[in-house]
Amino acid sequence: MSKHYAVFGSPITHSQSPRIHAAFAKQTGIGMDYVAIAANHDDFRAKLDASGVVGANITLPLKEDAFALCAGNVSARALRAGAVNTVLRDGAQWRGDNTDGLGLVRDLTERHGLDLRGRRTLLLGAGGAARGVAPALLDAGIHSLYVINRNSARADALVDAMGEPGRTHARAWDTLPALGEFDLLINATSASRGGQLPSLAMALVAPRSVAVDLSYGEAAVPFLAWARAAGCAQTVDGLGMLVEQAAESFLLWHGVRPDTAAVFAELSGRADALLTA
Ligand code: NDP
Repeated sequence: MSKHYAVFGSPITHSQSPRIHAAFAKQTGIGMDYVAIAANHDDFRAKLDASGVVGANITLPLKEDAFALCAGNVSARALRAGAVNTVLRDGAQWRGDNTDGLGLVRDLTERHGLDLRGRRTLLLGAGGAARGVAPALLDAGIHSLYVINRNSARADALVDAMGEPGRTHARAWDTLPALGEFDLLINATSASRGGQLPSLAMALVAPRSVAVDLSYGEAAVPFLAWARAAGCAQTVDGLGMLVEQAAESFLLWHGVRPDTAAVFAELSGRADALLTA
């Protein structure tokens, strides 16, 4: 009998996760169904329990809620992130993991051929996605990580959680122009979802810089267009990360890591069509 899986978050209507997991299931011959369920801070737990799923992805804005749900039963990388994007039923409880960071690092290093070692890195945002990618970037050998967030207490908390005071720094947004050039600039805010671009400074970018927006499609356009105008050598949106983090979740649930190339190619073709339509 086919097992049930889902992605929970809000907004969720345009989530690509059901399409990605359906493609992985077809490729590997694993019987499962996977749906998108709208949930917020107040009703997430009740909807998760009522859904009958044995595993789920958790997206904006619920990753810290999912971490609390799985308290004491999370992987080392989720513990360091303080955020959970994948849950797996474990008897009467939920086990939590975070595949966002590995998804981003795999996309940047394997699909885009980037060497992350030694890169001075700027991380905009300190929400669930930022918390997921920060430990993986540090583990991948970046030189240092500067975290800027609208709510500065969340940036401080993220930096504290990394436990590497020499390499990680929280800075206020108004100090940005004085921070110098970065080799890697990552937009992990959800500002772009509303078509907004956080206030930035051209002085952050050098010709060698790579800019990454964790969102994809139309939402990634404002930040990546700004980066190109500022002189960035390379820009990357979050579609590859989305596919890679999904493959890692699939591996946790089913013990098989699907091939991601065909699914990425199909989705990026659709994203290009959307952008040019
Ligand atoms: P959260 O809701 O947890 O965090 C949102 C973050 O964006 C916070 O740091 C928030 O700052 C900041 N923010 C929101 N609006 C603005 C604004 N107008 N100006 C400046 N900062 C703002 O969301 P997530 O961290 O889960 O997701 C963030 C982004 O990453 C989304 O676009 C999401 O789609 C994308 N993502 C992509 C993934 C992928 O696989 N490609 C995976 C996960 C996320 P504050 O704390 O001050 O409110």
